[in-house]
Amino acid sequence: MTTFEIRGLRADVIISEDERKEILKGVDLTINSGETHAIMGPNGSGKSTLAYAVAGHPRYEITDGEVLLDGENVLEMEVDERARAGLFLAMQYPIEVPGVSMSNFLRSAVTAVRGEAPKLRAFSKELQEAMKTLAFDSSFASRGVNEGFSGGEKKRHEILQLELLKPKMAILDETDSGLDVDALKVVSEGINRAKEANGMGVMLITHYTRILNYVKPDYVHVFADGRVAESGGPELAETLESEGYERFVKVGA
Ligand code: ADP
Ligand code: MG
Ligand code: MG
Repeated sequence: MTTFEIRGLRADVIISEDERKEILKGVDLTINSGETHAIMGPNGSGKSTLAYAVAGHPRYEITDGEVLLDGENVLEMEVDERARAGLFLAMQYPIEVPGVSMSNFLRSAVTAVRGEAPKLRAFSKELQEAMKTLAFDSSFASRGVNEGFSGGEKKRHEILQLELLKPKMAILDETDSGLDVDALKVVSEGINRAKEANGMGVMLITHYTRILNYVKPDYVHVFADGRVAESGGPELAETLESEGYERFVKVGA
């Protein structure tokens, strides 16, 4: 049983040396293992900032609050320690790392998280199997990380990492954006497999209810102006789908 708790989290984006702006204005959220929490909300409300702040991106400064994974203070951990503790972030805009092959990158990530390098042949087999389930041709293993990948391939690569790293808690930032229906199914199946295998908790950041037909949320939260504005069950997603986010958006904000 894993508990992931965000309490009163406030964070600034660092714009320049002497300019910062508060984006997260007191976020409270608790996710237990096996639970899926959908975070929905208008553009610019701070959803990606929440994901980055929790992951330890240097562009954000935490000004108040805490993030705990099974009682351990995540905010005091280095970024690699967070990964070892079982925290995983799938980015909204995965970065390209030309010159580093996908297989080398994934083996390094797996080594860092598991604490020892997997044997080459065993890893190679594990990777090929995982790639197959995520609809990657085996030729991708030797390609540069995300280099020239389509939007959908980048998103499937994020889920390939999930498959191999087996985190306790996954934050998935708009992993569904820009996917066609086939890719959406492949990605959703990957998330559901990881949920079943590891009892993983999921924070599923999304704009659209479409993915929620495949990855069933236990809770839905509306994120607006840097905090959780409303929480409910899966039915809240349907309300949002029909009504939009209008009543959560401050005029002139
Ligand atoms: P969401 O993911 O909900 O669309 P973001 O977390 O990406 O929202 O952005 C939240 C707010 O922070 C937006 O108003 C955005 O413009 C602002 N922001 C993010 N990064 C920067 C930055 N580097 N400089 C200035 N503002 C930023
Ligand atoms: Mg956005
Ligand atoms: Mg975003």
